[in-house]
Amino acid sequence: MPQPGLSAFLRTQLLRPVQTGRIIHAQLFTGPEGTGKHEAARLAAQALNCLATGDKPCNKCQSCLAFKDGVSTMLSVISPSGASIKIGQIRDMISDIALRPDHGVRCVVIENADKMTEAAQNALLKTLEDTPTYAVFFLLTSLPEALLPTIRSRCVTLRFPPQGEKAVCSALKERGVPEERANTIASVSFGSVGKALRLNEDKEFLTLYDDTLAAFRMLESKNDIPRTASALLPLKDNCAQVLEMLEAAAVELMRGTPKTPLAAVLGQRGFDGARLMKAVVKASRMRSAHVAGHYVLETLLFDVFEVNDA
Ligand SMILES: [Zn+2]
Repeated sequence: MPQPGLSAFLRTQLLRPVQTGRIIHAQLFTGPEGTGKHEAARLAAQALNCLATGDKPCNKCQSCLAFKDGVSTMLSVISPSGASIKIGQIRDMISDIALRPDHGVRCVVIENADKMTEAAQNALLKTLEDTPTYAVFFLLTSLPEALLPTIRSRCVTLRFPPQGEKAVCSALKERGVPEERANTIASVSFGSVGKALRLNEDKEFLTLYDDTLAAFRMLESKNDIPRTASALLPLKDNCAQVLEMLEAAAVELMRGTPKTPLAAVLGQRGFDGARLMKAVVKASRMRSAHVAGHYVLETLLFDVFEVNDA
């Protein structure tokens, strides 16, 4: 199965040690959300347990089929329970892997590893310092700085870069998404195939995009601010997403090639990308300071004109 988030380069980096029989017991996968870290860990776990003598994973042997059906006992996944990964979860996992399997490599994937409490990280550290020969750990995170340096230094790091808009666009088109919609979704996904695929399934997102576009179509001059503001008012609870759309449009305007409908409309109105970006950054700060959504959006409209006049 093609791995949408995995480049040929990463695939090679990941599988070369397996082909040569070298086992890396602790691996840290870092990179933004949706860049294929989880798929990569599953693929490596499958390859480590593949029974074929040639290229691994073969996707045909008994072990590979169990992985494909999601029933392999060689893979366990730990993810946050509520806001964090707690020491109890790590302790349960440690006692679970204490038993040596008859054959194969026990693989443990820790998703959002940065969410481990400090106690959980310290418990894991003891195991990482003395990993059983039949066990492999994959720590996945977009925030490696949140892990204890002692944990990081025990791991071999593999970085998952954002894939870029072109790759996101082709991934969408491969799935039959029409060009204009693919461009729109790719622009607000900021290089994350995972995010793009999720947005493509999200009907509310496309409605929100159309509503935002309709509101900004009304904005021809300063006098239209009240009208545009009331059109944006029903979107106030989705303020963060509206700001992301405007940020994406600002990036397109700065590049000078507005491809998406929102960037095209803003371009026609004579908005400058860099200035729009400044207004969006200010609005995002207001949002982080818990200013109400409708006020954030209204301020942004005034700012866009003021900075335009400046
Ligand atoms: Zn196999």
